[in-house]
Amino acid sequence: MSETSSTAWQSRFDLWHAQVQRIIATVDSGASIATGPTAQALTPPSGAAAAPPTKVLFCAPHPDDECLSGALALRLRMDSGASVTNIAITLGSDLGQRARRLAELQSACRALGFALVVPIEPATGLPSGFDHLEPERRQTHPAEWHAQVNELALIFKREKPDLILAPHVQDFNTTHVATHMLVTDAITEYLERSAIPSLPLVETEFWHQIERPNLMVGLTPAIAAMQIVAAAEHGGEMSRNPYHVLHTCRLMDNVRRGSEVVFGQGAAAQPFKLAELYNVRVRKGRQWLPTPPGQAIAPEQPVSVAWIQRHYVFPEA
Ligand SMILES: [Zn+2]
Repeated sequence: MSETSSTAWQSRFDLWHAQVQRIIATVDSGASIATGPTAQALTPPSGAAAAPPTKVLFCAPHPDDECLSGALALRLRMDSGASVTNIAITLGSDLGQRARRLAELQSACRALGFALVVPIEPATGLPSGFDHLEPERRQTHPAEWHAQVNELALIFKREKPDLILAPHVQDFNTTHVATHMLVTDAITEYLERSAIPSLPLVETEFWHQIERPNLMVGLTPAIAAMQIVAAAEHGGEMSRNPYHVLHTCRLMDNVRRGSEVVFGQGAAAQPFKLAELYNVRVRKGRQWLPTPPGQAIAPEQPVSVAWIQRHYVFPEA
């Protein structure tokens, strides 16, 4: 540091410098905790009893998204006994890595208490998740795209979801963007075929922030830790980029950002430490319904599909 700094500056700097170093050391300490897949089954606690039973589908573009963006699905299971199924939209594009990624995904879903469905790729008939999932293929390969939409719509028909989670359309990664498009098309097809009037789609973010999220889900440290237990089962992915170790930092920053982007510029900070941000939209036929104002749910306030329906689907009721 420059010799011209004052003594007062130096003493204040020393305090913050030490604080930043403590934070880095604390975050880094997560890197020494074992990653998976773990030989013993990691069985989480069961959630609240479901009354009435509800079904939540998480459409994960890659194995690990169900852990990193799935806080709301996990809270719905724990708080209201919702049955959650992860749909593995892809097992990644590298064919040589798919067996490893499936093993990690099975272990992660077990640790979350989620069921797992791996779609059949129509072109091969293999339960491999979808191949060549890219946004432009909706235009360039309409027949193949529609076959994948049809397969996903059939899964929706079988699973009868009350709520679906999938990435928002600007989530940077092409597989995330294509997953959004595929899920939206499949919801449209499912609603038309089943004569169901509407369905909530909860959009997730990971690579690019949602511009105007309308739901801030507060999380207890226990829920964040449950997510990390499961994320760490994707040992191969986490060794490439330690998303699991950094997860808590992202959830903390979401409270800073969400307090204003959900409730308006200059709004007060929400009084909790960890949150995930979502955008709840309601698909009715081929249209999106206008969404009501943003909501926050505190970490200790139980969340249910009924709560989401009350605030976003039937806000006038
Ligand atoms: Zn992903």
